[in-house]
Amino acid sequence: MAVCHLATLEIVNSKTMIYISIGSNLGNRFNYLRRAVALLKESYLNNVSCSIVLETNCILPAGAPAKWNRPFLNMVVAGECDLSPDSLLQGLKDIEHEMGRPVAYERWSPRIIDLDILLWDNIHLDNDHLTIPHPEIHNRPFLMHLLELMGIDERTQQVLQNSPYLPVNCFTNSFTLSPSLVGIVNITSDSFSDGGLCYAPDKAIEQAISHAANGAVVELGAQSTRPGAIIQGPEAEYQKLKPVLDGLEPFMKNGEMIVSIDTFRPEVIDKILNNYSISWINDVKGELSDDILKAISSHKCTICLMHSLGVPAQKDILIPFDESPIDVIKNWAMKNIERFLSLGFSEESIIIDPGIGFGKCALQSIEIFQNLEALKDLNIKVLVGHSRKSFMQAFSVHPAKDRDTETLAVSELIAYKADYLRVHNVDDHMRFFTAKHAINGAV
Ligand code: AMP
Repeated sequence: MAVCHLATLEIVNSKTMIYISIGSNLGNRFNYLRRAVALLKESYLNNVSCSIVLETNCILPAGAPAKWNRPFLNMVVAGECDLSPDSLLQGLKDIEHEMGRPVAYERWSPRIIDLDILLWDNIHLDNDHLTIPHPEIHNRPFLMHLLELMGIDERTQQVLQNSPYLPVNCFTNSFTLSPSLVGIVNITSDSFSDGGLCYAPDKAIEQAISHAANGAVVELGAQSTRPGAIIQGPEAEYQKLKPVLDGLEPFMKNGEMIVSIDTFRPEVIDKILNNYSISWINDVKGELSDDILKAISSHKCTICLMHSLGVPAQKDILIPFDESPIDVIKNWAMKNIERFLSLGFSEESIIIDPGIGFGKCALQSIEIFQNLEALKDLNIKVLVGHSRKSFMQAFSVHPAKDRDTETLAVSELIAYKADYLRVHNVDDHMRFFTAKHAINGAV
């Protein structure tokens, strides 16, 4: 093996392909992976591509404390870098510390984030603080597996000296970070597609935990907004949310679960902000006062605002047919973004939802999907809630609760045009997009 020293490496061609592993087995593991990828892109790597995410059992030495035995999420990121290996290693440590990993930690103990350089083009390097290829690479079949799935470039492949293979049974679960999902939990008896399923608090809690285990934001709603829905009083709505929030608070408090509340009632929002570690408010009506919006922003919550022409939705009140629905939504969004920024929200804490089914007929909804990228100009995150909705009657005879296949088809079309997809069936989405991502190699 040719061992190359750092001094030599400084003059090696820049723009070489580098592979970095990212692992997490503490806290909100999906969010830690997402944040690490964002920081790598922001400061260290160009032309980044990401593998899927594999969950694996923790590798521990004999005698390690039982509480260290927490499953890892692992992924590989590939990209080009102008830095020397030493500087990149320092950059990875800076990311770990910025994200909150302590400087000193016991080897093998759980960690919110771990970044390692796996491969650096076709280089071999071995000094007192850096070994490339990473010395553990061949002992961690899931890393070889991810590299093989990504299709590492030919030059880098040379240093691995292995024949391509895909070991099975080297992971316990698989995911993808893209697209980001918001999972619906309807604590209602009359929702259009799943009314009653999660009406009992224990069922709603179970559903929320299942969505979060797939890396989704959990969205709780206790007021149906379907056409004809009966609007209850704020206290009745809060009392439905309360037992579910009580059950989820431990997960929200330690950051393991991101929860959004779907409501348009200021009284409900106020109580929840003061009693629970809530992360998002989803306002489907757009009538909140400056005071309550300021309270939301001062609690560092994200606001998701949906375009609607009335809640509950009314089938005969539509965007005029001589106007472009995406332009109407864009103009409405621009006005609201300006207002939210003036009330203390940052651009990162605002999400815009075009409100499929609220003031749009089926053809207008389809037009919105086809032109969704026009909303990118807003430089604000976009969430689409299309799951099982009635526009699907334009091409499907299946009842709302059986429209997951149609939902997936729409999700596939808009996945990379939207920042979040709000869906009922998170599990199917995760399986579908993980398979797609794996077959494509990288995203
Ligand atoms: P850990 O945090 O357990 O991944 O260990 C990190 C330490 O391993 C760093 O302080 C490095 O000096 C050393 N190390 C050796 N080779 C590598 C590598 N290829 N990538 C990252 N860290 C490495």
